[in-house]
Amino acid sequence: MPELSVPELLDLDRRHVWHPYGPMPGRQEPLVVESASGVRLRLADGSGELVDGMSSWWSAIHGYNHPVLNEAAREQLGRMSHVMFGGLTHEPAVRLAKHLVDMSPDGLEHVFLADSGSVSVEVAVKMCLQYWRSLGRPGKQRLLTWRGGYHGDTWQPMSVCDPQGGMHELWTGVLQRQVFADPPPVEYEESYADHLRSLIERHADELAAVIVEPVVQGAGGMRFHSPAYLRVLREACDAHDVLLVFDEIATGFGRTGALFAAEHAAVTPDVMCLGKALTGGYLTLAATLCTSRVADGISRGEVPVLAHGPTFMGNPLAAAVACASIELLLGQDWLAEVKRIEAGLREGLAPAAKLPGVREVRVLGAIGVVQLDHSVDMKAATGAAVREGVWLRPFRDLIYTMPPYVTGDADLARIANAVCAAAREG
Ligand SMILES: *Cc1c(COP(=O)(O)O)cnc(C)c1O
Repeated sequence: MPELSVPELLDLDRRHVWHPYGPMPGRQEPLVVESASGVRLRLADGSGELVDGMSSWWSAIHGYNHPVLNEAAREQLGRMSHVMFGGLTHEPAVRLAKHLVDMSPDGLEHVFLADSGSVSVEVAVKMCLQYWRSLGRPGKQRLLTWRGGYHGDTWQPMSVCDPQGGMHELWTGVLQRQVFADPPPVEYEESYADHLRSLIERHADELAAVIVEPVVQGAGGMRFHSPAYLRVLREACDAHDVLLVFDEIATGFGRTGALFAAEHAAVTPDVMCLGKALTGGYLTLAATLCTSRVADGISRGEVPVLAHGPTFMGNPLAAAVACASIELLLGQDWLAEVKRIEAGLREGLAPAAKLPGVREVRVLGAIGVVQLDHSVDMKAATGAAVREGVWLRPFRDLIYTMPPYVTGDADLARIANAVCAAAREG
């Protein structure tokens, strides 16, 4: 039962609660969500429901309050919500690891379960650095990435986020200095491939790994690029003894029209990070997968263990829901749903291309993006979407949507309409 009125709640929220990338006290009043079901968020102020265009940041692919996921959580809750993972194991974690190994690109065999995407990237970086240390090459400790990326908010991930969007200037002298390539062009260009090759060759002695988001750069700018660059990276990394890490935290589980974006290029990375949609948006959980080459390399070292072990590693509740979410996804024609959403977004967002202030409209899989030629007026854009009955959360010059896969055609049209309205008014 609610104990606080909406005004009380908002007042306390503003005074005490940090929100993502927010000031303290808060300046923009958030909406209070009372409950959520299907693709709808119910607001606590009595103003009704909003169709969710964000999947709670890529995660709620099956929508909210899903009976199958609820049941999986309830069932596991009756057994145990958590138990430590040191010296103990349990079926949800083991089944989840098996699912991930089976469904991910061939060659990824070992799974480290972490509690958030950023931590899974930390683990990936630790794996790569330790691999080279174990092989007697401790000098290989830098990372290479291309600009425009986003890999999370803890320190190692921050160091490979886009230097401008990632506020590197604020952290000069604190963040590890990594090697940055130019942002990847949309289409394949041999000159850009050469740029990647030459950077990897030049820095090979100090590079532990190349880390990129394959095919779609998410929170760094919502840009798409040719999958052919992933093959260029794979070949150059192999030629110069550098590991390749794919951060599929946003792209994983079907969002781009392939189960994992790596499949668009038929490339297996040495290490792969998963998160966001892993539990269908129910609970925080992430995974770092690696090949036997990486695991064996680490195990042959002077310190033969991977020294990482979060308290809530392998959380049974989250793992049980993740298993249910994966089974739900694979048990349906998910690709048809993603293609349907892609077609709906292409049609519904097309009018935005003619609006003044719009630079570009782009759609890939179940992702739709309208890029403006100016910074978005958050309040105006969000307000316009809410008036259309839709929840959107634009950033920088981008109004975008990645709807739950269960979004019906009418709701999809409504989301696209709201994106256009936000672009017009934001
Ligand atoms: C969201 C995201 C992360 C960080 O995940 P958190 O769970 O927020 O820590 C890392 N990489 C990519 C590509 C992401 O989209």
